[in-house]
Amino acid sequence: MTEDCIFCKISKGEISSQKIYENDNFFSIPDANPIVEGHSLIISKKHFKTILDLPNTLGAELLDCIKKTALKLIEDYHADGFNVLNNNFKSAGQIVEHFHVHVIPRKKDDGLKIL
Ligand code: AMP
Ligand code: ZN
Repeated sequence: MTEDCIFCKISKGEISSQKIYENDNFFSIPDANPIVEGHSLIISKKHFKTILDLPNTLGAELLDCIKKTALKLIEDYHADGFNVLNNNFKSAGQIVEHFHVHVIPRKKDDGLKIL
């Protein structure tokens, strides 16, 4: 736990959240400022700053959380597809310095430009 880390507080239950899915090392929640309906975050339960700090042994669980969350979002929001996005360090747009992955549900002709 890093003091004042918002995602550590959510992970520890000090700030309430509406979990979409969780396994031993990751959980997913709706993004507080969604860029489209259903925009969600996969968050590590332990504090890691970037993907470079994440142990390789957690790769399968990360993938599990991404896939289960994406499938639920596709169902709930009738999405046709989704983007998976991970910002590392300030220059790449990382604002919250606790590892997380964005899952962004997409619909045909939604007009969203990500890359
Ligand atoms: P970034 O660090 O740029 O990859 O994105 C951080 C994301 O965390 C932003 O999309 C925020 O809207 C989101 N966020 C920040 N605080 C919260 C919170 N308390 N609950 C859910 N999402 C949050
Ligand atoms: Zn943290």
